[in-house]
Amino acid sequence: MAIPTDSELLAFLDEGLPVEKMTALEQQLRDSEPLRQRLARLRSQQDAHGHTVSEIWRRNRLSCPTRHQLGSFLLGVVSNELAEYVEFHLRTVGCRVCAANLDDLRSANQGQAEVAKRRQRFFQSSAGYVRREEGN
Ligand SMILES: [Zn+2]
Repeated sequence: MAIPTDSELLAFLDEGLPVEKMTALEQQLRDSEPLRQRLARLRSQQDAHGHTVSEIWRRNRLSCPTRHQLGSFLLGVVSNELAEYVEFHLRTVGCRVCAANLDDLRSANQGQAEVAKRRQRFFQSSAGYVRREEGN
């Protein structure tokens, strides 16, 4: 595994990495004294400046997209910039919160599509019924 970036170390502190990455990084930290020192330094920098991990994350543009943005991303109606960001956030950062959110939105969308289909079938059959009535 490559040497982790500051952002990854901060994400580790915030427990915001996928399980496999958390485990791999933990192992790296056990094996590497310089890495432990970097982590300690990052942590004390945060304390010194009173910044929370999520504030630093936001500054590093690693914050979570909103649920609305995720929904638009699913529908493919976001700018390229936002689409790239969401993909980066999900694939590279591996945000578990957003992955779960996206799954949830995806199944909600599927449910809506089925309701729309059922409604369409209902209207088609009642339209046919009305036409027959009129024909009489
Ligand atoms: Zn996220």
